[in-house]
Amino acid sequence: MKFDIITIFPGIFDSYFGESIVSRARKADLVEINVHNLRDYTTDKHKKVDDTPYGGGPGMVMKIQPIYECVQAIESVANAKIKNQKSKLRSSLRSRIILFSAKGKKYTQEDARRLSGYDNLILICGRYEGVDERVAEYIADEEISIGDYVLTGGEIPAMALVDSTTRLLPGVLGNTESAEYESHSEEGYLEHPQYTKPEEFMGYKVPEILLSGNHGEIKKWREKNSSLKK
Ligand code: SAM
Repeated sequence: MKFDIITIFPGIFDSYFGESIVSRARKADLVEINVHNLRDYTTDKHKKVDDTPYGGGPGMVMKIQPIYECVQAIESVANAKIKNQKSKLRSSLRSRIILFSAKGKKYTQEDARRLSGYDNLILICGRYEGVDERVAEYIADEEISIGDYVLTGGEIPAMALVDSTTRLLPGVLGNTESAEYESHSEEGYLEHPQYTKPEEFMGYKVPEILLSGNHGEIKKWREKNSSLKK
């Protein structure tokens, strides 16, 4: 699976994608992540990606032109690559363009599962007062919000989306980190509480049943203590 992230702050991603599960998935060639600097697609010498809003008002709005050029460049590289492949693969290649927006549809585990089925996701990170609405209307396939609050940019949403979809790809998680039985793996399901050593810490004890070795009773306890915090 390939992710193409469009941003004016490409350096933000180095640290997160260079660690842990996402980094492992990259090294194993299970995912490819390309970060594109939007300023490289501007046409003026100041590399301007924003301008004042029509109708007036505070702040700046991100321009459609560099975003359009960047998406075009990403798609033409992808098309050139698949032209060399067999026609069967070409017709089955699935890609989607996502714009991050505080007013988009709220992202859920179901979206992570759905989007992990694509071959290529192009992620557009907004900044300032947001992005010229024509990007949502004519370029993006969908607008995603990661919650009812406003961030300064779409980079954290992009990291959340890449992380949550990558961990669902076959081969990314080992058995010990399985995504099969965890919170939200089914509608409304919330995992049971987890504990580890020591059995007692400053007087706070682990539930006795978990120390009993009685697997049947432990299973029942876990079932009883999952999905309850709705
Ligand atoms: N003026 C915009 C509004 O009121 O909806 C907020 C713009 S915000 C400061 C700048 C950018 O951050 C947005 O264009 C979007 O890409 C990103 N962003 C902010 N909050 C977000 C959220 N909850 N989910 C996804 N993206 C968000």
